[in-house]
Amino acid sequence: MAAVVVDEGVHADVRTFLSQDRMMLIDGKWVPAASGACFEVVNPATGDVLARVAEGDKEDIDRAVAAATRAFESGPWSKMTPSERGKCLWRLADLLEEHLDEFAQLETLDNGKPLGVAMVADVPLAVDHFRYYAGWATKLNGESIDISVPFAPGAEFHTYTRREPIGVVGQIIPWNFPLLMAAWKLGPALATGCTVVLKPAEQTPLTALRLGELFSAAGFPDGVVNIVPGFGETAGAALSGHPEVAKVAFTGSTEVGKLIVKAAANDLKKITLELGGKSPNVVFADSDLSSAVPGAASAIFFNHGQACCAGSRLYIEQKIFDQVIDGVVENAKGIKVGSGMDPESTMGPLVSQEQFDRVTGYMESGMSQGAEAACGGKRVGNRGYFVEPTVLVNTKPDMTVVQEEIFGPVVTAMPFSDIDEIAAVANDTIYGLAAGIWTQDISKAHKLASRIKAGTVWVNCYNIFDAAMPFGGYKQSGWGREMGAQALENYLQTKAVCVQL
Ligand code: NAP
Ligand code: MG
Repeated sequence: MAAVVVDEGVHADVRTFLSQDRMMLIDGKWVPAASGACFEVVNPATGDVLARVAEGDKEDIDRAVAAATRAFESGPWSKMTPSERGKCLWRLADLLEEHLDEFAQLETLDNGKPLGVAMVADVPLAVDHFRYYAGWATKLNGESIDISVPFAPGAEFHTYTRREPIGVVGQIIPWNFPLLMAAWKLGPALATGCTVVLKPAEQTPLTALRLGELFSAAGFPDGVVNIVPGFGETAGAALSGHPEVAKVAFTGSTEVGKLIVKAAANDLKKITLELGGKSPNVVFADSDLSSAVPGAASAIFFNHGQACCAGSRLYIEQKIFDQVIDGVVENAKGIKVGSGMDPESTMGPLVSQEQFDRVTGYMESGMSQGAEAACGGKRVGNRGYFVEPTVLVNTKPDMTVVQEEIFGPVVTAMPFSDIDEIAAVANDTIYGLAAGIWTQDISKAHKLASRIKAGTVWVNCYNIFDAAMPFGGYKQSGWGREMGAQALENYLQTKAVCVQL
């Protein structure tokens, strides 16, 4: 039995879920780790143990990959029609939606985010994502091609392409949006007919494991989705280097992304990577400050800054610098930091002790290099991993806090004077995931949008996501795109069939 500590007011199904050690999903069955080991999952609001979860390792990854291989090669899944695959995905979305409250609470307990956010963002976006890809399953057409072949005069050919699923896919996901990242990965993989071994983050495996309980009822045959919780260095490394895995899809740090590339190099697996960011958010003096100011605050403080696309470098046109800083500081001070289960809270704890140490370390580094906290800069309370929303001013381009991804509610603010200067400064980073532009000058907005080297540019908005809109990084923010039609390409390969008539 897990030593579970959960607050009053927690959904009965969540209590039941947490009351037993959670196993891993292999070939449609919930099984313990081959080693018998479990690891503890911690509630970041209290530091207490929330659940115990089977700790997958190489042997478990081998078993899961074998199940996924069988399901791909010869199982009922391999013969299911596109329409049937689409129906499974749609039913999965319906089942998830029916359990929205339960998933939201589980996510909040595991990750720390406010329950209200999990209720309106994480879970509904995951539902929508599965529905979006359910629709794609029946639209993965090849094409017929009229070929000329100059060295075969008079010959006639019928040539066409098929778009075939790539095979067994390894998916490794992070802890910041645990359920949603699982959905981003699973949706397109299952629509195309691949089979999956998913490794959730050690900090937050619970919603992925609960999702695992819905696949069978949604109609997915055994072995199509296998879920192996465990640690990156063991389970993750075994998955990303496994010879039977045709493709690895990874979201997480740029550092681990580079390890994934090395692991996949042995047998030239296909890879997609969604990595870190240090996204510029640019506020021009002609913007509507009634939306730009709260927009700049939520760009960094949403999800406690634990978002790869967080607007963590705020650039403000010189003549409105003080005014915007005052407004962002006021917004930050209005944030109520507390347990995600408390309906009053608008910011929960950071996800883990490690992340807490990292973020507070960056706060100290910024201040020791001469930055000044216009607000925040400290931890909140002495239990759980809470920190203050922080706005750093007097920052310089070469400071560590301006260069490196903090992944916490810490924004660095700097003034700029014109569009040429800001285009250069915005691109002065190894990353290129996202950017924000706030202006009422439509021409300026489009000009800067085209000059910023980033996979997503938001104009007069920030953190807008949709299953239909591709998302991914330029430069060291990653390879490939998730969401939209483009994500399907990650899981398909094209075969040309050439028939001489
Ligand atoms: P991370 O180490 O990159 O973890 C992401 C995923 O990769 C987790 O499932 C992790 O497993 C796994 N992993 C770790 N080492 C691996 C390896 N050698 N081979 C295969 N998989 C491996 O990220 P983190 O430690 O959780 O966070 C550190 C930093 O990463 C953050 O501060 C932030 O900068 C960045 N990050 C980015 C995103 C994003 O959305 N782009 C999300 C989260 C974090 P375990 O966690 O189970 O060990
Ligand atoms: Mg890690």
